[in-house]
Amino acid sequence: MTLPIVAIVGRPNVGKSTLFNRIAGERIAIVEDKPGITRDRIFSRGDWSGREFHLIDTGGLEFGQADEVTDHIRQQAELAIEEADVIVFAVDGREGITATDEEVSRLLHRSKKPVVLAVNKLDHVKHYDEMYEFYQLGFEAVIPLSSLHGTGTGDLLDQVIAHFPPAMEEFYDNDTIRVAIIGRPNVGKSSLVNRILGEERVIVSSVAGTTRDAIDTPLTREGQDFVIIDTAGMRKRGKVYESTEKYSVIRALRAIDRSDVAVVVLDGEEGVTEQDKRVAGIAHETGKAVLFVINKWDAVEKDEKTMNRFRREVLDHFSFMDYAPILFISAKTGQRVAQVLPMVQEVAEQHALRISTSVLNQVLQDAVMATPPPTSKGRRARFSYGTQVAVKPPAIVLFVNEPELFHFSYIRYLENQLREAFGFKGTPVRLMLRKKN
Ligand code: GDP
Ligand code: GDP
Repeated sequence: MTLPIVAIVGRPNVGKSTLFNRIAGERIAIVEDKPGITRDRIFSRGDWSGREFHLIDTGGLEFGQADEVTDHIRQQAELAIEEADVIVFAVDGREGITATDEEVSRLLHRSKKPVVLAVNKLDHVKHYDEMYEFYQLGFEAVIPLSSLHGTGTGDLLDQVIAHFPPAMEEFYDNDTIRVAIIGRPNVGKSSLVNRILGEERVIVSSVAGTTRDAIDTPLTREGQDFVIIDTAGMRKRGKVYESTEKYSVIRALRAIDRSDVAVVVLDGEEGVTEQDKRVAGIAHETGKAVLFVINKWDAVEKDEKTMNRFRREVLDHFSFMDYAPILFISAKTGQRVAQVLPMVQEVAEQHALRISTSVLNQVLQDAVMATPPPTSKGRRARFSYGTQVAVKPPAIVLFVNEPELFHFSYIRYLENQLREAFGFKGTPVRLMLRKKN
């Protein structure tokens, strides 16, 4: 399912990143516990009243060519208008309206996107009178708040989710494998898609699927239906921000949401970058199957050790995703491109794998026998049984006597035993502890 995108725009120092952290706060704390996941303060997810959404602080985006502050903000606003479902326009309630605020307002009004005006830094009720001036900017929803203290953010989020578009129905059936091809600009995503579409065994449907903001390419290979999600997002359209790497993350968000399998394309000549980690991290966190494709292998100077060295580099950077297979290809020469869709199909099957409770428990009981859960605080951890509660990705609930006695490393051990028994190649597996009553 596609999550709505909420973007925060506004001048520097009005409190955008404070607000971002407030909304994303708890989730960031959880994610930062996991080693290896790149966490910046620009993209996160939030939820309110059971509605999940992507959150972007456009203040953290850098645009190479913009020198003037106003140019910079204009580009942030344009990007938010293009990509977001709801825009949170943050202003400084203590300072009053500035010329830049007025300019941003004009842009936002022209866009017809829903806007919630966040009048920030109103830390005490006695400051609330300051907010009336901001009605001049002409927005319906004007919310006084203090990001610093956290007051008013609930009212803000009530307004934000009230403007979410209705959930979009996916119109592909469950047997169609939805593939997102993601990666930084210039790693060769479009070249790879074109190669795949030109393959002998691939039959491309003459009717492209279109959604609100994407053009999908449905195709069939040896009886299996696939759809390549959002190939429109790969087209370059010439706006300044479109060449920036962080923008490519935003484009990737929706495509990843809608996919079963994320093909993460890396540049074999350049190696792994922070930006690659960000995109791959999103695929992992949203529970997608993942396949790494190292492209431009034709251009890499190689000896017999090069491939293993690169493989190790990928594993070092993506230690939290060591389940994902790696393919070395060249979109230019076509080398191994024919293996991409079969591998996508394989990881998609693993992503949808359902293990019967009896077979699952044989493996879990054997694992617990071989290495019993540790004793801690003088109490013995006891495992009762497990059951798979979901697919895509596989999620397994483990019933135990005291969940807090089970250390992360023991869960990791159980996961490894499950992977040894069932494979789960290319897919994250979610293990959840529940207290057995
Ligand atoms: P950004 O540049 O828009 O991202 O602004 P920041 O979030 O970095 O905040 C700029 C400054 O304003 C920091 O010193 C914050 O501590 C402060 N600030 C942010 N929100 C509030 C607020 O609600 N009340 C007060 N008094 N200060 C705030
Ligand atoms: P995208 O921005 O990720 O869609 O990347 P493109 O498909 O537009 O490719 C970016 C550049 O890399 C182009 O100049 C391509 O010709 C080049 N390129 C793509 N794949 C390969 C490859 O396998 N080998 C080499 N040597 N160049 C490639």
